[in-house]
Amino acid sequence: MYNITAIPGDGIGPEVMEGAMYVLDNLRIKIKWDIVNAGASVVQEKGRPLPDEVLQSITTNRVVLKGPITTPVGKDFRSINVELRKRFKLYANVRPVISIPGVKSRYSGIDVVIIRENTQGLYTGIEYKTDRDTAHALKLITREASERIVQFAFVYAKKHHRKRVTCFHKANIMKLTDGLFLESARQVARRYPDLEYQELIVDNGCMQMVINPEKFDVLVMPNLYGDIMSDMCAGLVGGLGLVPGANIGKDAAIFEAVHGSAPDLAGRNTANPTALILTSALMLDYLGEKDKAEILRKAVFRVIKEGIYVTPDLLGSASTLGMAEEVVKYINL
Ligand code: ATP
Repeated sequence: MYNITAIPGDGIGPEVMEGAMYVLDNLRIKIKWDIVNAGASVVQEKGRPLPDEVLQSITTNRVVLKGPITTPVGKDFRSINVELRKRFKLYANVRPVISIPGVKSRYSGIDVVIIRENTQGLYTGIEYKTDRDTAHALKLITREASERIVQFAFVYAKKHHRKRVTCFHKANIMKLTDGLFLESARQVARRYPDLEYQELIVDNGCMQMVINPEKFDVLVMPNLYGDIMSDMCAGLVGGLGLVPGANIGKDAAIFEAVHGSAPDLAGRNTANPTALILTSALMLDYLGEKDKAEILRKAVFRVIKEGIYVTPDLLGSASTLGMAEEVVKYINL
């Protein structure tokens, strides 16, 4: 029996969470869900977006399936996503982006894994004004965190039989911060002579990614570049509805799709549940349930390849739950 915290979140979160939980509950794995909520939708009731019961549940269960959370606009609210990653020291954000047969896209054969440093960079939240017209943001990079994330990337690459790790950076301009990240990456890369190591300045890396995405393998980079690169790569494989993600630390893991709360789709039951279902497969991998994770992935890919019971972003007319129900049919075949 696994005790897992579920945070439905905001916008399309509750809809895609319903789909993912329905699929997981039909995989014949015993999961005891603790459903708690955070984000804009709980502010009115609880007075703040990250109630204690959420933190308590994560501390107890240490494995979380999470929907997107909107940070309420206003100077009193910091990003809850960033807060959770920092509080539970979830230093590695892992986002596998693959071309799924059946999805209409100009590209095929994409199979990259973005590994993003998740606790530092420009996400420290340290910003201040020195006068009415001047604002500063602090970009923090430490050797310890940089080596830790690059080490994670190489270990990941080895474990998943990957060939190459590419470090994206902007050390030509940010000589101290990205310079330190790059220096740390080189240091770690020397310990893995059997894996190819490559460096690219992030803007050039974006251009090359758009021209030849199938040439990339495992990517490692500071926080903000990872955020931007994730959405860009999602676009290359057919959209944000398809890309899963995991936030991993030593003592806890929060599994969440790359997409946000997509307010334009909220309440329509048309959001694609694939990203959160594939995120659930990453969670199963983490729990050691590799076979179940594979069954789940195969079922999702078959539904997408058939192209009938898919959501409007994949040019179908299925509802979020309708697509999830179709996945369950293939699980049971
Ligand atoms: P955030 O700032 O919270 O990360 P964002 O501005 O990146 O959010 P998203 O909410 O991630 O925006 O979504 C951008 C667009 O992608 C949405 O408006 C929606 O059209 C599309 N999208 C996102 N998720 C899905 C999904 N699960 N299914 C279908 N389309 C989606």
